Amino acid sequence: MMINKKRRGRKKRVCNFCADKAKHIDYKDIRKLGKYITERGKMLPRRITGTCATHQRTLTQAIKRSRIIALLPYSAD
Ligand SMILES: [Zn+2]
Repeated sequence: MMINKKRRGRKKRVCNFCADKAKHIDYKDIRKLGKYITERGKMLPRRITGTCATHQRTLTQAIKRSRIIALLPYSAD
């Protein structure tokens, strides 16, 4: 769907994964995933990372998977 609405004065925020044209997120890529969680292991909200809904969902799955194989810590609280 293409809607061309010019938003004046607002910086266009492009999701990092969309910019990469990433279809899936590698759960073994902890360096990438690490940018989307806090040092306490909590996921950063979308409004901070600018990730789109589609990729946020993919990212959540990747982080969950990563936690299962203990690459990333579970949330500390
Ligand atoms: Zn995206």
